[in-house]
Amino acid sequence: MICGTRALKNARRIQSAAPNVIPAKEPVEGFASLVPLSTLQRFDLMSEAELAAHPDLLAAHRSLCAADLEKARVSSPLFHGTLYFVRMIWFQEANGAQIAVSVGDINIAIQYSTLAVKSISGYAAQYGPNHVDVSQTIITAGFAVTSGVYNDDAVQGWVNQILHDNKLNPSSSCIVMLNPEGQMVNTDAINGVLGYHGKANCPYIFVNGVSSNWDVADTFTPQIPDHYAIRLSHEIAEMVVDPDASSNPEVCDPCGPNCGRVWRAYFDTPSGSPVPVLIKATQDHPPSFPYTFFINAIVQPAHAGDCPASEAACAYAPPGESTNEPRVVLYDRSAGEGDIYGFDSEGKINLVTTNTGWRTSWDLMAAGRFIGNNQKQIVLYDRSAGQADVVGFDGSGRTNLDNTNSGWRTSWNSMIGGDFIGNGRSQILLYDRPAGQADLVGFDNNGKTNLDVTASGWRGSWDTLVAGNFIGNGRQQALLYDRNGGAGAIIGFDNHGKVNLDPTTEGWRTSWDIIVVGDFVGNGKDQILLYDRSAGQADVVGFDAHGKVNLDTTNSGWRTSWNLITAGKLVGNGRSQIVLYDRAAGHADVVGFNSAGLEVNLDTANDGWLTEWDVMLSGQFLRNGRDQILLYDRAGGQIDIVGFDNSGKLNHDLVNFGVRTTWIDLAAL
Ligand SMILES: [Zn+2]
Repeated sequence: MICGTRALKNARRIQSAAPNVIPAKEPVEGFASLVPLSTLQRFDLMSEAELAAHPDLLAAHRSLCAADLEKARVSSPLFHGTLYFVRMIWFQEANGAQIAVSVGDINIAIQYSTLAVKSISGYAAQYGPNHVDVSQTIITAGFAVTSGVYNDDAVQGWVNQILHDNKLNPSSSCIVMLNPEGQMVNTDAINGVLGYHGKANCPYIFVNGVSSNWDVADTFTPQIPDHYAIRLSHEIAEMVVDPDASSNPEVCDPCGPNCGRVWRAYFDTPSGSPVPVLIKATQDHPPSFPYTFFINAIVQPAHAGDCPASEAACAYAPPGESTNEPRVVLYDRSAGEGDIYGFDSEGKINLVTTNTGWRTSWDLMAAGRFIGNNQKQIVLYDRSAGQADVVGFDGSGRTNLDNTNSGWRTSWNSMIGGDFIGNGRSQILLYDRPAGQADLVGFDNNGKTNLDVTASGWRGSWDTLVAGNFIGNGRQQALLYDRNGGAGAIIGFDNHGKVNLDPTTEGWRTSWDIIVVGDFVGNGKDQILLYDRSAGQADVVGFDAHGKVNLDTTNSGWRTSWNLITAGKLVGNGRSQIVLYDRAAGHADVVGFNSAGLEVNLDTANDGWLTEWDVMLSGQFLRNGRDQILLYDRAGGQIDIVGFDNSGKLNHDLVNFGVRTTWIDLAAL
């Protein structure tokens, strides 16, 4: 059982480079009658030594490789268009017989594909923007054949005829042809070839279907383990990523039958969910659980060249179309909702989507790139249940991942996200105060815990945990502050999540009220700013490569009435500043620092602020390369996006009225 696309691609390429080996007119016996199928399947990967005995093929290989070098890995755009299923009726001139797949089976294939393309498109989004619709109408086409045998040249001719007769747009159509295996023989799809995709005047998919009376689940029977779904989904996915059938990767082969036992992603279609939800990706068929449909798994881009690809690269939920748009997620605990908002370039907020049915018992929330798909997710911790969910979102803001991790302690006090172990994704650090313990927890591609390292013997008196790249090693550490004990510590982790750095500094003030993180001095690392309200002072504290304090500059004469402080790269000079908000006075300042950590008062004239803001969050909400702040007035139901010019003067201030008054937590995505 294999997919024939690679062999066909190689045959067409040899045909283009070496017409002496494969002539322009394909023999009806198929390409494999000219070049062995084993060579066609591997031609693109064969070494010069392997091809040495075939000088013509070796020469073709060399010229094609030279051409390939000029192309990027995904060199042409993905599919944007509609799949048209054709009911082929073959009239056999020899005996007058008519052969066709039943209307009922083609309708099942259409129903199946209508569901499957939502998941396929979500996976293919890793390779680029794409869009797939499925026409609900069967196209009927009749062709006379001299016998029950034809080849890919004939298929291409029929595709072009169908395209023309039905006035379809070649740039947004894909013809899907289901062949009744055993009754009609495509000599380019024999000897275990399940199907392939190609391009005539438009992309097309050819699939050998087995037997009849299909269903959407493609229910397993011992006699016929697979009728159509694995091969149809395989070719749809590969066509979507490579509609030209040219140089883009074959995205199912590494997880599919070509390279080993096929990985199948089984989906459910819960009511109210706009997209199917992955139950599990497994090699088991049939699986031990009920499902609605399954597809051939699609490999992660980094592993498109693996054969076979690992479980981790095949068994994961569809990431969905990514978005560069800034978003925030706001959690309404009482309503059980996670609302996603976006921003236009003026700072007007737009509801992207409402995700309902969330627990009303989440206690802690942290955001980060936890599952390695370059998008942000959140981790939600339910203390009483001892559970944590990793929740991801697609480009439409909809939940496309929600994995529950159970059996957690019911005593975690704090949770922060950070890139602690240097594997290109984020982990969470949990702190159990009474136990004096912390866990560093990481997640796999599906949001399942795959790392959980407990650190014991910690003080039971840390009050504040923040993450930052304090020591300049390219990953993040945790900074802990013990207010009563007057101590601070930088905690670093090795690649396995074990603490490998733990210098505690005694003699800290016991009166720091607010700690924020940023690169205030512009040395490419993070420092902390500590604000002592009663003293009206703020220290900028930096650390050396060993986590020891090597900078501690006190700034005095500050107001003793700042309520909120947030750090961000607000003025576009490459370093971080802070915004300070005095609620009672309705006043805000923007303060920057010089290389020594001394304040450079950027602007103190931000008077006239409302006295109602409860939350201040920084993020790149306006997509102009710098950070802004988001202000949320819970009681009044308003959100303000405030931006600053190069000198720290407020140059952007858009209030959005009438938002919910019940969000209790929020995070930038
Ligand atoms: Zn394939």
